[in-house]
Amino acid sequence: MEIYLDNSATTAVHPEVVQLMNKIMLEDYGNPSSKHKKGVDAEMHINEAKEILASIMKCDKKEILFTSGGTESDNMALIGTALANKRRGNHIITTMIEHPAILETTVFLEKNGFRITYLPVDSTGCVKLDELRAALCPETILVSIMYANNEVSIAEPVAEAAAIVKEYNPEIVFHTDAVQAFGKYRIIPKKENIDLMSVSAHKLHGPKGVGFLYIKDKTRINPIIFGGGQQKAMRSGTENVPGIAGMALAAKLCYEDFDEKINRLYELKEYFVSRVLDIEGTVYNGKRGREGTPHVISISFEDVRSEVLLHALEDKGIYVSSGSACSSNKPALSGTLKAIGVKNKFLDSTIRFSLCTDNTKEELDTVIATLKELLPVLRRYTRH
Ligand code: PLP
Repeated sequence: MEIYLDNSATTAVHPEVVQLMNKIMLEDYGNPSSKHKKGVDAEMHINEAKEILASIMKCDKKEILFTSGGTESDNMALIGTALANKRRGNHIITTMIEHPAILETTVFLEKNGFRITYLPVDSTGCVKLDELRAALCPETILVSIMYANNEVSIAEPVAEAAAIVKEYNPEIVFHTDAVQAFGKYRIIPKKENIDLMSVSAHKLHGPKGVGFLYIKDKTRINPIIFGGGQQKAMRSGTENVPGIAGMALAAKLCYEDFDEKINRLYELKEYFVSRVLDIEGTVYNGKRGREGTPHVISISFEDVRSEVLLHALEDKGIYVSSGSACSSNKPALSGTLKAIGVKNKFLDSTIRFSLCTDNTKEELDTVIATLKELLPVLRRYTRH
């Protein structure tokens, strides 16, 4: 038995995506910069991918920059904007609960003369818009607020935040890390005043190591990777053709029967949460229902270390995460859980279950039954 509930860490690649990538790797393997037919065939895949993504986001094809994934898109958004706008100011605003791809980049920028404001969040992880209003100043050049968190179920009020920023000064660049949100929300960047948006393919049943940065036309941003001048010199390096084509197909598949899929995810989430909270000594972190994201479920389990529970579940073929997998190789306690005010005793006792539409109620029943079997045993060790 294998039950995979770690879809916020990464997802299984859709079989149709594998098929397409396989064909491209075996047959259309040309370099898209080559002038001959092989190159033209490869370039055609890139163009098709742009068309698919542009139609999903209702944007222009030239507003899509392919990258190696969420981390690079976030780095490019922050460093690229900081470099291009440094004459206008040195102040950047973000939140306390961003992914390390943002927070480590702001640390780097701080060391290089930029001033960063980290906005606090409430107990559900929702960013405080009054604090955003108060933080804006004439030196502010960039605001970066994630669309959906990777550890707890919360979608940030991005459109409202961006409207506040643009009203204060339309020149301020607004970025959102949508790595956990693209494929779960219909995001039309222009409708929400988003100038820059990071997306990663492996969270939406696409391949790893590929993503894109949406860059609204005329946004001031510099490249951070230099070389052969690909992608109009905004991001040098031979394009990952199979990855790019695979990502676009994965995105297209995500948005087919979209409402049905999202309703199903919310139903699965509530089904699981209500049952898990029946177990003694459990606390839910984040927002319930539609105010939260459809796929992330964070639960604190009293008197059990998350890593112990993670491995006990693993022994039963159930895969979950303690904290967020992309940063779990760092032993530090989660900054997100601290920022939302999770009690100290729960910081090291929290598990993230993350769903995809392939999960079933039967699987969730098995997980609940397994938790009911494991928890009393594990707690006996801690409580004595
Ligand atoms: N941003 C968020 C919110 C994420 O959840 C992740 C990965 O989990 C990333 C950025 C990094 O994306 P990637 O793994 O594609 O570099």
